[in-house]
Amino acid sequence: MRKQIIGGNWKMNLGSPQEAQEFVEKLIPKIKDLNNVDIVIAPPFTVLYEASKIIKGTNINLSGQNMYFEDKGAFTGDISPIFLKDVGCNYVILGHSERRNIFGETDELINKKLKKAFFIGLNPIVCIGEQLEEREQGKTEEIIDYQLKNTFKDLSKEEIIKTIIAYEPVWAIGTGKTATPEQAEEVHKFIREYINKTYGLDTAEKVRIQYGGSIKPNNAEDLFNQPNIDGGLVGGASLNIDSFYEILKAANEVSK
Ligand code: PEP
Repeated sequence: MRKQIIGGNWKMNLGSPQEAQEFVEKLIPKIKDLNNVDIVIAPPFTVLYEASKIIKGTNINLSGQNMYFEDKGAFTGDISPIFLKDVGCNYVILGHSERRNIFGETDELINKKLKKAFFIGLNPIVCIGEQLEEREQGKTEEIIDYQLKNTFKDLSKEEIIKTIIAYEPVWAIGTGKTATPEQAEEVHKFIREYINKTYGLDTAEKVRIQYGGSIKPNNAEDLFNQPNIDGGLVGGASLNIDSFYEILKAANEVSK
């Protein structure tokens, strides 16, 4: 059975050391007994160091929200995977739809980052998902298929097993419109089927596929109970201790 995994994507929030520190300090005691779910938080770069110091020895994993595919050099404004590793991250989010749509990141670029993440030893959480018009035109599977082929190009079996795939329909992110459990499950099943065709059933059954898009305490359990949904990537609701805790608890129950 696959263990559920929940990521809290803080985006560009809680970026001052004091607020990040307060948040994490309050979160730790609440979630210390949730052993059936992998817990990841992705604070802004400016507070990774503070977060890293506080979570040492707890059940919380630390993630960057993005990275570049080079180690160091003249890449103003970007972040090295080595820096993320050194500051205590063991995860990194790649290809979030905000990176794709606001900053123009392509599948090819994300693929380079993904390979680099493996090389450095960061566990990647890689986002894919269709836009509203694409869904309305009945192109969801075509788009997901394209993203799977290109974002995950040339990955070995071992690498795809280590990848956390986050299916995030763009129309559901930060909009309050959640995909229904059935809509989400349909795409998750399609993704697992793609992995089955490409790598075989044994591999497909091991890959964890998260859902993301307006997950809230009141919809989390129904989503996580779907056979092909292995947790979630949470934006807005991860900024509130109580709602994040409720979502983590729902995932923890499903994995029991
Ligand atoms: C996200 O940032 O990946 C996300 C799913 O955001 P939200 O939960 O706010 O829709």
